[in-house]
Amino acid sequence: MIKDESVEKIIDESQQGSPLALENNDKNTRKLYIESYGCQMNFSDSEIVASILANEGFNTTQILEEADLVLVNTCSIREKAEQTVRKRLEKFNAVKKTNPGMKVGVLGCMAERLKSKFLEEEKIVDMVVGPDAYKDLPNLIQEIDEGRNAVNVILSKDETYGDVAPVRLNSNGITAFVSITRGCDNMCTFCVVPFTRGRERSRDPQSILEEVNDLWERGFKEVTLLGQNVDSYLWYGGGLKKDFEKASDMQKATSVNFAKLLELVAEAQPKMRIRFSTSNPQDMTLDVIESMAKYENICNYIHLPVQSGSNRILKAMNRLHTREEYFELIDNIKKIIPDCAISQDMISGFPTETEEDHQDTLSLMEYVKYDFGFMFAYSERPGTLAERKMDDDIPDETKKRRLQEIIELQQKHSLYRTQQHVGKTEEVLIEGTSKKSDTHWMGRNSQNTVVVFPKEHYKVGDFVNVKINECTSATLLGEAIAYSKNN
Ligand code: SAM
Repeated sequence: MIKDESVEKIIDESQQGSPLALENNDKNTRKLYIESYGCQMNFSDSEIVASILANEGFNTTQILEEADLVLVNTCSIREKAEQTVRKRLEKFNAVKKTNPGMKVGVLGCMAERLKSKFLEEEKIVDMVVGPDAYKDLPNLIQEIDEGRNAVNVILSKDETYGDVAPVRLNSNGITAFVSITRGCDNMCTFCVVPFTRGRERSRDPQSILEEVNDLWERGFKEVTLLGQNVDSYLWYGGGLKKDFEKASDMQKATSVNFAKLLELVAEAQPKMRIRFSTSNPQDMTLDVIESMAKYENICNYIHLPVQSGSNRILKAMNRLHTREEYFELIDNIKKIIPDCAISQDMISGFPTETEEDHQDTLSLMEYVKYDFGFMFAYSERPGTLAERKMDDDIPDETKKRRLQEIIELQQKHSLYRTQQHVGKTEEVLIEGTSKKSDTHWMGRNSQNTVVVFPKEHYKVGDFVNVKINECTSATLLGEAIAYSKNN
């Protein structure tokens, strides 16, 4: 993956595993240390967990050694993600020796995947909680307080946590995630998500709007609507997406799809920037792109993972579109929103991938010239369709070499894309101080590219028009001209 301050769909690499903290409540007496790994969804879930535990007498701490309860929100997407968590558990084990009262809980995808095996294999773990069971945490904590191990990994048909107001952990106070769907029905053959996060369900639009309005009231200026497959969002009064067919005529007539949801959010807060992630090519429809074009506050950026450029591999991955259909979608996006940035996820070395398939991936990238990319070597995941039906037959060196070629091409395209911004004046939302210079702000333009410029009199949360003078493959460098009209 290209790691830079600019390309973060996935949470800022530096935040992976860092303890998340929020303001203390004086009445709370117990200390919670919570770490998150993996995707934005996990970080968003940790905010729900911290909110539930704040009502159970817990304040957050960033000091592991003083914690009464340690929670680690885990990721199973690749083997390496799981290894990282296992190493952390060893560390917790060492601390437990000096603080024997400390309890350890595993949350998220790895908890769901391994279930009670965790209690047997990792003796240090006291509690295992799957992604749909966080509301049960007060009961589970009572169990472990009384000296018993506790497990709840039941996946739900309708849990969306729509009624839990998440607290904002390690927030910059400007940008926030708002989760709109949970689970995934796509069954990509490489992917563990449908097994760890369950079937797809959508959150009540009313509760989404309330959360967005509340964020605006509290000074937030940008929201990212989150889901494994946001284009598939469908609210018809609750329940699984797959049961929509059984809904009543009334429910169908008043249902809200993703394009409609985008419009509702954009209209509710016309000065708030709206982003969303992740889109799936097979579910992204033209009405979504048209809604983006219609509202200035919906950012011109789509994260549109393709995973491979080869029709044969796309089929084997159960991605339900062809390369040609993907090109058509890209052409439509560029026709309707010419300056729309597009980013990809790509996997090298999926089972049976030939050099020719790999060349198809490179030629697809050449066609699209993505602005950013998140690129991975295939990692076989237990229980997935690919693991059950196919041999992981591409040698590691080949996977790595192909991945390197993909990364190099992406870097070339990223530079090509950033160069297109030079000379233009673009609206930037200031998020904080640049990582590299205390005298410069860091923000993003509509296309999600990082822009760095001298601070002058501007402040965090301002919308500023910035003249872009220079660029690297990942960052635009410029100077502020004036506040933008959105300010
Ligand atoms: N739901 C999104 C989609 O369908 O495109 C993203 C899911 S996943 C959380 C993020 C990315 O991890 C995927 O887009 C894929 O590129 C990568 N990924 C998932 N499973 C993988 C595996 N077994 N090996 C390597 N990369 C994987």
